[in-house]
Amino acid sequence: MQRFTYVRPSTPAEAIRAMADGGPGTRFLAGGTTLFDLMKLGAEAPRTLIDVSRLDTLARVDTSGSHELIFGALARMSDVAADHRLREDYPALSESLDKAASQQLRNMARVGPNLLQRTRCAYFRGGEVFPCNKRAPGSGCAAREGLDRGHALLGASDACAAVYPGDWAIALLAFDAVVDTLSPRGERSIPLRELHREPGSTPDLETVLAPDELLVRIRVPTSQAGRASTYHKIRDRESYAFALTSAAVAVRLEGGVVTEARVALGGVATRPWRSPEAESVLLGQFLTEDVARRAGQAAFAAAKPGRQNAFKVELGARTVTDALLIARRRAEQS
Ligand SMILES: Cc1cc2nc3c(=O)[nH]c(=O)nc-3n(C[C@H](O)[C@H](O)[C@H](O)COP(=O)(O)OP(=O)(O)OC[C@H]3O[C@@H](n4cnc5c(N)ncnc54)[C@H](O)[C@@H]3O)c2cc1C
Ligand code: SF4
Repeated sequence: MQRFTYVRPSTPAEAIRAMADGGPGTRFLAGGTTLFDLMKLGAEAPRTLIDVSRLDTLARVDTSGSHELIFGALARMSDVAADHRLREDYPALSESLDKAASQQLRNMARVGPNLLQRTRCAYFRGGEVFPCNKRAPGSGCAAREGLDRGHALLGASDACAAVYPGDWAIALLAFDAVVDTLSPRGERSIPLRELHREPGSTPDLETVLAPDELLVRIRVPTSQAGRASTYHKIRDRESYAFALTSAAVAVRLEGGVVTEARVALGGVATRPWRSPEAESVLLGQFLTEDVARRAGQAAFAAAKPGRQNAFKVELGARTVTDALLIARRRAEQS
């Protein structure tokens, strides 16, 4: 790992100034669970790290509001997952955190930087011996002829089919979350659906954030569908593993009929993926097993499998179906 300069600002304004002073090659550091990992693998080599992890003003959580839930970007994943109102009224959000990584990691890692984690594609992480357009633009893509079992069915390009690996972003997307940022140009708000880019011909550019933009908070509009929601995650082992397929769903039922439907997919796409196709199958229907199954199939109608990941089409459809049936049960109980 190359040597770097370490800076610890005491306010967000100082952090922004330190970023401007540091210039190219400067990175914000929060829990370090992604960044140090990538530095050890040589996939990231920052010259200056600005440690924002102790900026307590950016760690506040307020889920008591009637219009929106507010999560400071530097709140710990474990603290947010344990929030009482979230567990009661938005189980999909708390489950997406509970099912991510391990308890030790969740105690370190923060909810804002969680959105910025990078792909687990083995070639990206494996080093310079592998061509990888994300790591070394223009070098090619080792996954095209290599192992693509974990790769994307949706949103891939010729240049890259790496999956977006996180869980929390999938649940946030289902609830139309917005992220707020601060930079020398002031504050701005970005709908989560616009935060992550599809790879296209520039898979190295993963989000629309500028390098000097500090994530300060995540806001989630309150929703009556929150209680009847779930984050359903299927993985190779039952804990401490990334999603093969996942679904964040939320529904509102009136007299058994779906009047609001939210479906987002994880583990199967190059960015967090909302499925309007599944949602439109559900709206206005009684949420029977057959309707849930048709919604699951609709979510994957546009899937483009590679050589080893075709099994995720059926697995993904079943994941959505099962998630909808869990949400229905919760709707009936609430
Ligand atoms: C073994 C392992 C298993 C994991 N399993 C899962 C899993 O199953 N599901 C899942 O969702 N995640 C999983 N993760 C990922 C983990 O959740 C993320 O590493 C973590 O959430 C990142 O948060 P952090 O605070 O450690 O970020 P850091 O590593 O400190 O930073 C991550 C990125 O965000 C940038 N950054 C930090 N703070 C800010 C800020 N305020 N504004 C702008 N940029 C910022 C950094 O520069 C860096 O690029 C796993 C990680 C590991 C190591
Ligand atoms: S799929 Fe993307 S991240 Fe993986 S090797 Fe290809 S270009 Fe790199």
